[in-house]
Amino acid sequence: MTVHQFTDETQALAAEILRYSEERLRMDPVPLDSPLTRAELDDVAGAAIQSEGRGGLAALDLFAQKLAPACLSIDHPRYLSFIPCAPTREAAMFDLVVGASSIYAGSWLEGSGAVYAENQALRWIADLAGLPAEAGGSFVQGGTIGNLSALVAARTTAREVAERAGTGARPYRIAATVGSHSSIATACRVMDADEVQVPVNDRMQLTGERLREVLLENGPETFFAVVATAGSTNFGIIDDLESIADVCEEFGIWFHVDGAYGGAGLAAPSVREKYVGVERADSFIVDPHKWLFAPFDCCALLYRDPNLARVAHTQHATYLDVLNDSPEWNPTDYSVGLTRRARGLPFWFSLVANGTDAYTQAIEHTLDVTRFAQAEVERRDYVEVVRDADLSVLVFRRLGWKSEDYHAWSDQLLADQTGFVVPTSHDGETLARFAIVNPLTTEDDIRILLDSMA
Ligand SMILES: *Cc1c(COP(=O)(O)O)cnc(C)c1O
Repeated sequence: MTVHQFTDETQALAAEILRYSEERLRMDPVPLDSPLTRAELDDVAGAAIQSEGRGGLAALDLFAQKLAPACLSIDHPRYLSFIPCAPTREAAMFDLVVGASSIYAGSWLEGSGAVYAENQALRWIADLAGLPAEAGGSFVQGGTIGNLSALVAARTTAREVAERAGTGARPYRIAATVGSHSSIATACRVMDADEVQVPVNDRMQLTGERLREVLLENGPETFFAVVATAGSTNFGIIDDLESIADVCEEFGIWFHVDGAYGGAGLAAPSVREKYVGVERADSFIVDPHKWLFAPFDCCALLYRDPNLARVAHTQHATYLDVLNDSPEWNPTDYSVGLTRRARGLPFWFSLVANGTDAYTQAIEHTLDVTRFAQAEVERRDYVEVVRDADLSVLVFRRLGWKSEDYHAWSDQLLADQTGFVVPTSHDGETLARFAIVNPLTTEDDIRILLDSMA
């Protein structure tokens, strides 16, 4: 097998891969593209893997011509569904470098340079949140694994405390809300924990007052964590973190803040005060692949006291002793998982290249476009705002539309390649929703989409 040799053919492929990547990054706007069916893909790419290879150029061509157009461009400026991802050019390009570099970023021994850089990027986030100097963690795949890892650390800690106190308590509950991300329910299933949903206030926020009542009703000693959301996915709601922190402190319960989407707003002065209390979190996550312009997949997971996470997550095996016995920072010890890619490096590279001021400006710009969108919705008589946007998600109603109208409108947008904006729902009602995290999304894009609903 000669596939590991760098030949003339490799050389030609390298040039073509770089050319393709450059072209993709240069496109403005990128084609939105659309999904194909399994049968359509069978037709064009079904027999791709054969005993004889067809060469890199042909494989690249197959991807570029047949498969890439069947993948939506989530960085399209009128892709406003779910939470889009709009990497900086620097971050996207550096992902190529990471791929070419064969870095094992699970341990300091093997990846100290990468781990050092990733920790710098984590420190930037910890400073934005106001976490103490000892805070730390690692970059994991996404918010789902980040939340799960933080909650596992919370439970391990709570059970050790209970054991030491000899109370016989075995905390098994998490307090969250209806607005908490689905990954919290998933974490509970994985951990065999119970989620108790605390009622929200009239601004749809979790508050300390209601939390306190629910804890007392259920027995605070049965809880090992409270999950607050800093930017709910559906509405961008930030819970009342300060009063929640007070209650967590009163009862000695782990305070986890899920900022997977909204945590990026910490870098935006115009909304920063909504996050007061986040500095008291025991753990905090934010996905740079959402609103911090890193490519998939990248979640920053931070712990106030990383030692607690290390106790919960370090894997023990004789072949790993050489790593575990070292006093250095091993990112793998802070989450579920062992082998890890240096997924924080593209984010780090972009921070170094662009400077953090550029991040603040880009995030503020998306907030401005969201405010514009809200004002436009208020100005037009056929749409109305459902809830004022706290961050960069706007949920609104098209008067007179039923669920099928929203879906037909959304399907038509994609068919026309105008945009990708799927409806959401709240309290059983189908609604329109814009999630604006792409700095290339303009006021004109918003106008075009709202016009299409007239
Ligand atoms: C997106 C999101 C998650 C899950 O993150 P993934 O990276 O998709 O796993 C968790 N919480 C919130 C608030 C989110 O917006």
